[in-house]
Amino acid sequence: MVSHRNPLMTHEAVYNFHDQATGVQAVIAVHSTTLGPAAGGCRVLHYDDYAGAVQDAMRLSEGMAYKNALAGLPFGGGKAVIMLPENADAPDFDRNRMFRTFGRWVDSLDGAYVTAEDVGCSVEDMQMVATETGYVSGLPSRPGLAGGNPGPWTAKGVFLSIEALVRHRFGSDLKDVVVGVQGLGHVGFALCELLHQAGAKLLVSDLNGQAPALAAQKLGAEIVKPEKMQAVAMDVFAPCALGNILTETTIPLLKAAVVCGAANNQLATAMQGQQLADRGVLYAPDYLVNAGGIINVAAEYLRETTDSVESRVAQIPHRLMQLVRRSEAEKIATNVLADRMAQDIVAAGQPSKVA
Ligand code: NAD
Repeated sequence: MVSHRNPLMTHEAVYNFHDQATGVQAVIAVHSTTLGPAAGGCRVLHYDDYAGAVQDAMRLSEGMAYKNALAGLPFGGGKAVIMLPENADAPDFDRNRMFRTFGRWVDSLDGAYVTAEDVGCSVEDMQMVATETGYVSGLPSRPGLAGGNPGPWTAKGVFLSIEALVRHRFGSDLKDVVVGVQGLGHVGFALCELLHQAGAKLLVSDLNGQAPALAAQKLGAEIVKPEKMQAVAMDVFAPCALGNILTETTIPLLKAAVVCGAANNQLATAMQGQQLADRGVLYAPDYLVNAGGIINVAAEYLRETTDSVESRVAQIPHRLMQLVRRSEAEKIATNVLADRMAQDIVAAGQPSKVA
């Protein structure tokens, strides 16, 4: 195993780990520990090269620092990326060994970084990590305490945010408001259920045909082809699939007046926040509204109850509407303002009290 500290101007540290026996390589980026241990999930993917993995870990760890700050959590921002080796899909590949090795790497940082699930890994994988380190969350819940799948909590925060934005923009509740949900995975489907209960009309898309069919059958959703989703007439667009979907070319196609969804890094660059504002689209910064999952993960780590998760998630729309009102008054794009508010909290050096 090789590890080294690689301090950069923008991040406290970026660590590189390599297990020569199996070829597994990982990057752990620690953006900041000012507010507490750097917390953020572990992304497990095939990467073209090491530079791409470092870039991903750094970008995502900065997002986690801002997400945790705005959620009022006593955690800084971190992210791990495991570069899946070429043979990871082979039947004899030892996935458990990979996660145990990763657990030792996490442990070697003495609590500077706390891991959990992200794209490409599961609760079972985190249980392997937990055999080697205590600096892990996202494990099965224990009676009376927070834990388990964070998806429904993320969906709840996004739902409450959509409700608040619709009230602000249209002066109404969600009855008959048309919401397009892109991606019906852990978060997207749960969001659809909440929206349906509140009387919204659903447009849904997913690359996997089964989830939209279920949403049509259970929730009366109308299925839209994935490639058409952003251009369809709707009041609210809720991206809950992958990031980088609001680009210079896709934004002019949007018919929605509000964008609010769970996907991380929805904007191709920060400039797209201004592009949306110029077109009169109210954009909810992704890391502000999708914090329900990390709130649940943090509460599990701190051995708090689900009640504390509930009350923190309920604060998400309040923080969002503070930001929206300030954005309108000061004519600053919501994404830019969210970054500034989060940076101010980190600079102040203690977790914010969410009003
Ligand atoms: P998931 O993998 O369970 O679901 C994603 C779904 O999106 C899949 O069903 C996939 O088929 C679909 N999809 C992918 N590309 C698509 C496309 N172009 N059009 C339509 N559908 C597409 O993931 P999830 O846990 O539901 O997370 C969704 C997003 O929210 C991700 O970007 C994730 O990073 C973010 N997020 C999730 C959580 C959480 O608690 N799970 C927390 C914060 C942020």
